[in-house]
Amino acid sequence: MQKFLLRLVAARGGFFVITGEQYKRSLDDGRRIFLEGKRITDLCTEPTFAAAVDWTARGYDRFYDSTPGATNPLMEAPASREELNERATDVRDTDMLTNTTYQSLMTLVTVAPTLGRHHPELAERIHEYRRTCLAEDLRIAECITDAKGDRSLSPGKQSDPDSYVHVVERRKDGVVIRGAKLHITGAALAHELMVLPTKRMSPGEEDYAIACGVAVNTPGVRVINTTYAPRSEDDRHFPITRIENMPDGFVIFDDVFVPNERVFMDGLVEHSATFAHSLGLWERLGGTALMADEADLLVGLAQLIAEANGLSRVEHVREKISELIVYATLIRAGLEAAILHAHTTDDGFLFPDELYTNAAKFHGASQYNTMVRHLHDIAGGGVLTAPTIADLENPELAPFVEKYMRTSPDVSAEYRMRLFHAIRDLTADAFGGWHFVTNLQSGGGLYAQRLVTRKHYDMERAKKIAKHAAGVDQVG
Ligand SMILES: Cc1cc2nc3c(=O)[nH]c(=O)nc-3n(C[C@H](O)[C@H](O)[C@H](O)COP(=O)(O)OP(=O)(O)OC[C@H]3O[C@@H](n4cnc5c(N)ncnc54)[C@H](O)[C@@H]3O)c2cc1C
Repeated sequence: MQKFLLRLVAARGGFFVITGEQYKRSLDDGRRIFLEGKRITDLCTEPTFAAAVDWTARGYDRFYDSTPGATNPLMEAPASREELNERATDVRDTDMLTNTTYQSLMTLVTVAPTLGRHHPELAERIHEYRRTCLAEDLRIAECITDAKGDRSLSPGKQSDPDSYVHVVERRKDGVVIRGAKLHITGAALAHELMVLPTKRMSPGEEDYAIACGVAVNTPGVRVINTTYAPRSEDDRHFPITRIENMPDGFVIFDDVFVPNERVFMDGLVEHSATFAHSLGLWERLGGTALMADEADLLVGLAQLIAEANGLSRVEHVREKISELIVYATLIRAGLEAAILHAHTTDDGFLFPDELYTNAAKFHGASQYNTMVRHLHDIAGGGVLTAPTIADLENPELAPFVEKYMRTSPDVSAEYRMRLFHAIRDLTADAFGGWHFVTNLQSGGGLYAQRLVTRKHYDMERAKKIAKHAAGVDQVG
């Protein structure tokens, strides 16, 4: 892959943006990708990967630019609130790997000045890596979550030292790392794995304080995948996931050599959490933006199916839809506040506010299951049992499906069935299950979002207000 891309760089004289077709060809680079025990050699034709590859390729085509020196404009760091807002909108309209790449690059932009205050040479390496990713229009997967072993023990105290990714050998020209990063979205289809420590390391755990960039086809890297891609010959009743799905990967680093120029940090326990905090922030902003749109989709589906069922004026249905509206509105309010209260790095780039980002992500994630419950409650059992479009096309079945799925002269069977299919696909099938868990766990889980929200909340101000209300400002 790297050779293919480097040839392209040379031919095009520097920076360039590639096409979807070129992206597809770049995946044929010897990477070791597995699904259900078998190695996949052609990712583009493997049925359960093809839609994810196409989705990513469309993201490339959208920003293709043949101008020499062009880069993907989405990947430029925002220098104003307007740009931060625009990026949040544009990124969530593209594919998942464009999202993870944007979040990864923004993490590097945010971390570099902090690290650079004490280690300017590392900041320069980070900038150089970012420039390379931009120049070659690479896609990046975020590799943070370690296997972690016994959660009550720190990395250095695990019975298996490989429970967290760590350095097993230091050479003059680089380091050798071992371990695994789990649940990594899009790892199989990215070019780069951005490997970061999952949490703060303590003195004595220097080998675990490793942050680096690893190409997916580096010897020793293997990716074991799971996917919620529809496994149906006729996928028309999966209107959402037939187009948008992405495998998650269990990424193994079996003594992988990383050259010095790709090592962003090694052994600096005092900075070990800087990367995770920064990625967590960008990941949660991205998650909040996606949840804001998805919440509107939940509202729309609830209203449409209530209307199709003839129940939109019924009191309890209206109340549930009102609750969905409040849910959707508060996520969007949090997202907008996070951008409005953005901060600036020493390099002049914008990053979202921690308090609003984390509170909004927590709100969206923690209430999601209840909102889906409302949608299922309103919609009825057709969510699971509505016949398929193919049934409607079968001349023997069509009159019956039409007759019994129709609810009134104005609501056809096909219209109502397609609503049920969309609700099932989004919330009650393979993707629905994936979503239930992912909304809770992504971005470090609810616990992490609560913790960061609390850390950035102005508790002293709240105490002052409470003391004043209680009339105890002056009482010791
Ligand atoms: C579909 C999916 C996609 C994901 N994509 C990515 C990705 O692209 N990149 C990436 O790096 N990660 C990714 N994640 C991982 C996600 O961030 C983790 O799942 C999450 O951080 C929880 O870690 P865990 O799964 O190991 O569960 P655990 O660590 O076992 O956590 C389970 C529960 O235990 C709590 N817990 C764990 N340890 C402690 C402790 N010491 N003290 C108190 N409570 C504790 C947690 O808060 C949580 O509530 C993804 C996850 C999913 C499900």
